[in-house]
Amino acid sequence: MRFTVLTLFPKQIEDILGHSIIARAMSRGLIEVERVDIRDYSVNKHRKVDDTLYGGGTGMLMQAQPVYDAWKSVVGDDKRPHTVYLSPQGKVFNQDIAHELSKLKHVVFLCGHYEGVDQRAIDLIVDEEISIGDYVLTGGELAACVIIDAVSRLIPNVLPDASAFENESHMGGLLEAPQYTKPEEFMGREVPRVLMEGHHLKIEQWRHSEALYNTLIKRPDMLDQLHLTVDEWLELFHRDRADESLKDE
Ligand code: SAM
Repeated sequence: MRFTVLTLFPKQIEDILGHSIIARAMSRGLIEVERVDIRDYSVNKHRKVDDTLYGGGTGMLMQAQPVYDAWKSVVGDDKRPHTVYLSPQGKVFNQDIAHELSKLKHVVFLCGHYEGVDQRAIDLIVDEEISIGDYVLTGGELAACVIIDAVSRLIPNVLPDASAFENESHMGGLLEAPQYTKPEEFMGREVPRVLMEGHHLKIEQWRHSEALYNTLIKRPDMLDQLHLTVDEWLELFHRDRADESLKDE
């Protein structure tokens, strides 16, 4: 899969994505992350890419021309690639959006800076606006990297096997169950017995039950989206009551 990032700070993208699993995926040719410096498309002799706001107001805005020309340099005569503007005004990124993006061959990310980007460039090139949360960042680069990371993990062979992400939080609408590694005991706390006994069905049941409970405690809003069975609701109810009575003791 090919990602293109239109940015004023290409080095920032390289610094963030040049490590660990994502760097390996790039070197194995599973993903390609291309950085296009918008400043290279400035027609100003000082490579200026921003200007003051029409109508007044503080701050500078990225001009339409260098943004549009940077995008054009990537598009060429090819089929128009899906173009995302990272923006606090966009729909909030989640695992479903990551899945949708992972089905595409080429995604272009436009990173704004300063006060953002002239609306005319957005109108001309952008297919959707995505936010990584309801807060304002100084630029879109961190957001682009967050999305590229989350999408890349879903590309076949980036992770050692599909089960590495199939059971993760948000994949089936639940958070993941707690996980443990060696040693068996740490500061008096033991790994739950069921995980040591090698009974796969029981382990699966335990994990599902813990995932349900984890979701109830940490993100009860997620349960609204799920169609839990009566047994699952009862299990949660009893588990919650048992925990409450332990607290009371
Ligand atoms: N004036 C803009 C507004 O109020 O909507 C905010 C501009 S922000 C300071 C500069 C750039 O950071 C934006 O153009 C966008 O690319 C990026 N950015 C800021 N917050 C973001 C968020 N939550 N998600 C994704 N990108 C964000």
